[in-house]
Parts: sequence; C-alpha cells; structure tokens
Amino acid sequence: MKVAIITGAAAGIGAATARRFRDDGYRLVLADIDVSGAEAIAGELDALPMRCDVSDESDVAALIDAAMKAYGRIDCMINNAGILGAVGPIGKTPAEDYRKAMSIMSDGVFYGIKHASNAMEDGGVILNTASIAGIGAWSNHSYTAAKHAVVALTRSSAVELAPRNIRVNAVAPGNVVTQITISLTGSEEAAVERAMSRNPLPHVCTAEDIAASFAFLAGSEARGITGQVLVVDSGLSAIPIPASYHLTESRY
Ligand code: NAD
Repeated sequence: MKVAIITGAAAGIGAATARRFRDDGYRLVLADIDVSGAEAIAGELDALPMRCDVSDESDVAALIDAAMKAYGRIDCMINNAGILGAVGPIGKTPAEDYRKAMSIMSDGVFYGIKHASNAMEDGGVILNTASIAGIGAWSNHSYTAAKHAVVALTRSSAVELAPRNIRVNAVAPGNVVTQITISLTGSEEAAVERAMSRNPLPHVCTAEDIAASFAFLAGSEARGITGQVLVVDSGLSAIPIPASYHLTESRY
C-alpha cells in the first residue's frame, strides 16, 4: 500500500490528482482549507479529509502526524494548494496581499517539504505545483515570486534529500481551467478562449493532464528524476511572453 497526501485537494488540480492517485492504488489524505470540499472528495475516494491551512506550520505538522497515525507511512507528498493572489501594478500592491500569496504558495511548500521529509524514513517522493510563472514573468507579482520560490525549494531540497532517496520535483502548469483562471477571466468560456488564443498547441491543459504528470513523477519510471520542473503548458512558455500576460493592470 502506498500513501499520498495532497494539499489543495478540494478542487481543480488537487481533486483531479486525488482521483488519479486513487485509481493508481494510493491511500490518500486530502487536505484543504475548504474542509467541506475536502470531505466531499474524500467521501468519493475512501480517503482521509483534513482541514489544513498550509500557511500555518502547525496545521501542516498536524497533517503529517495524522497521515502517519492513520497509515503509518507517507510515500508521496503533493504540495499543491494555491491562490491567484494580488493582481495589479507593484506600486499599488498591498503588502498584506503579497504576504498572503507568499505565505500560502512559498511558505506552505516549505512547510510541506520540511515536515513530510522528516516523516519519510524509507525514501519517498515530494511533488510541488509550480507554474510557468515559476520560470518566467507570466503572471502577477506575488504569484510569480511565490512560484519562483517553489522552483527554488524544489531544486535545493532535492539536492539535500537525494542521499535519503527522497525525490523532489515540480510540475509547472500553463493555463488550466479551474477557479483560479476563472477568477481572472470571469467565466469558464473566457478562460478557455484566453488559453486557446495563446497556446501553440490547440489544447487547453486539463487538471487531469497535470495529475498524469504527477502520477508519472511519483512512479518508479521516474526513479532517476529529481530537482526538475516538468512544464505542462501546451507549448506556451516556448514562445516570448506577451506583455498582456504580466497581469499588472490595475485592480486597485
Ligand atoms: P483551485 O482554486 O481549483 O484549487 C486550489 C485549492 O487550494 C482550493 O481547493 C483551495 O481551497 C485550496 N487552498 C487555497 N488556499 C489554501 C490554504 N491556505 N491552505 C490549504 N488549501 C488552500 O485552483 P487550481 O488551479 O487547481 O490550483 C492548484 C495549484 O495549481 C495552485 O498551486 C496553483 O497556483 C497551481 N497552478 C494553477 C494553474 C491554472 O491555470 N489553474 C496554472 C499554474 C499553476
């Protein structure tokens, strides 16, 4: 039996990853700040739901403890929870909005790597949801900063944890139609249209596409891969970044 913990599991990429990992035979601990959403997916997948605010280290420590108590081992930790964060010019971005994005998407990934790796006595896999905003200026300031931190933590922890046979990798999605992209464009149709108008491939990546990449990186076929960022974006990041992608138009 293999055990995986997924944060941000109540919706979008996290929920699709939970379904994929359940199909692949994992027992799951599904964590989210939206506890009723986590409970709904957990009920469907015979998993353990947990309320967890990933920006609170004690919540993340309690999540790892609960997984160890329930199943006695952790094979895979997926640090996926995220928000869009403050959109607007840097000169008008409130510090508290910037801090909130960093606390969820940068601090939260740090806590997840820290506590999960401490519990992994016999090797394991840690996977982080980055973004193409982690490798270029594809989004708003706080999101781009946080996702660059995710890539940095992926690489630095992979090197340290390699001798303990813990692999650490990230997946960097482009545009996936979830609440995050819908909150940006206003509707699902507009989110699809925005992605289709820019993606080189005539395909809008789905949450299931991202889940499949996590499944590959978690599995033994990826045993030689650590410290890497797998970009899943229909080719978007292979082209120069259009200025309209910087998300610095004023929302303040
Ligand atoms: P989503 O809004 O559908 O899911 C995000 C989940 O994270 C939600 O269930 C939410 O309740 C949870 N969450 C938010 N704050 C939390 C906190 N403090 N503690 C615990 N859970 C919290 O969006 P999604 O697109 O599925 O996002 C998942 C990840 O994918 C995020 O890290 C996001 O940055 C990343 N991502 C998404 C896209 C995209 O286009 N949708 C692109 C690149 C990266």
